[in-house]
Amino acid sequence: MSIVVQGVSKLYGVQKALNNISFEVRTGEIVGFIGPNGAGKSTMMKIITGFIPASSGNVSVNGLPVGDDNPEVKKQIGYLPENNPLYPEMYVREYLGFVASIYKTGSTLRKQTDSIIELTGLAPEQNKKIGALSKGYRQRVGLAQALIHNPAVLILDEATTGLDPNQIIEIRNLIKEAGKEKTVMLSTHIMQEVEAICDRVIIIDKGIIVADEEKINIYSKIIRPKQVIQVEFDKETRESSLSEIKNVKNVKNVRNNLWLIEAESEEDIRPSLFNFAVKNNLTVLSLNKQESNLEDVFRQLTGG
Ligand code: ADP
Ligand code: MG
Repeated sequence: MSIVVQGVSKLYGVQKALNNISFEVRTGEIVGFIGPNGAGKSTMMKIITGFIPASSGNVSVNGLPVGDDNPEVKKQIGYLPENNPLYPEMYVREYLGFVASIYKTGSTLRKQTDSIIELTGLAPEQNKKIGALSKGYRQRVGLAQALIHNPAVLILDEATTGLDPNQIIEIRNLIKEAGKEKTVMLSTHIMQEVEAICDRVIIIDKGIIVADEEKINIYSKIIRPKQVIQVEFDKETRESSLSEIKNVKNVKNVRNNLWLIEAESEEDIRPSLFNFAVKNNLTVLSLNKQESNLEDVFRQLTGG
């Protein structure tokens, strides 16, 4: 086990930000940690990385208890905090060299700095001031500082927030690349990010874990119709006629002649819809099966 969280609670004054949280992350897993704003994601990550103490409960990383300022634990963890605080007046290379010097000395320090600059694609920007970089490159510097001591565990808090779509893909690829040999826990509010890179999903809401599943199993947590089909006809038809089609349980008019049809059977209802159109002298303009996505799971479980 790379990360073990047991019965962790966190109080800020009287407010309970985390309420008796427990979960485990296996070595090599990439876990998506998702939840609405204020759910407690950053608080949990700060506790795992030893930045703030828990009010109660225990956390260990690679078998070592977090807390007590144990430098051995810090070596195991790379952390990209939310909002990625950096020193804008420092130069990229100077800053990364400085971070590396906390962990290494001599020639290994230089080598480590070089290789991380290479890995994160920072070579062309290495002699610029951090404050002069684009947001995408600043995130790369944040990732570089998290990776520089080659930690076994990466904790990334909203690593792609505020980036443009191209930058998001670049940072995601970097995370995927780094995640090949590491255990990664990342928080995000972008569901496609979890779909794209995670093996497992933990959903937190109001300081409580509401789901913790392998990505492929997460849909078992919600109630959803077996099939949802979106169909568009060229002319008007009646809701009551559509409801009479075999296996149809629910019919919703989206707009004009566009309908959302829900069925409770595994049997594909598209042929029946097609026959319905033929019988009623309608032309089918489009016919699409809608897959549930993580967004649906998130909304149902967090009431967001
Ligand atoms: P998330 O990262 O999921 O948005 P946070 O962990 O930042 O959530 O916050 C969880 C809750 O704890 C929120 O209600 C937030 O306002 C509160 N909180 C976070 N940090 C502090 C703090 N330093 N002092 C007081 N309340 C805090
Ligand atoms: Mg946060």
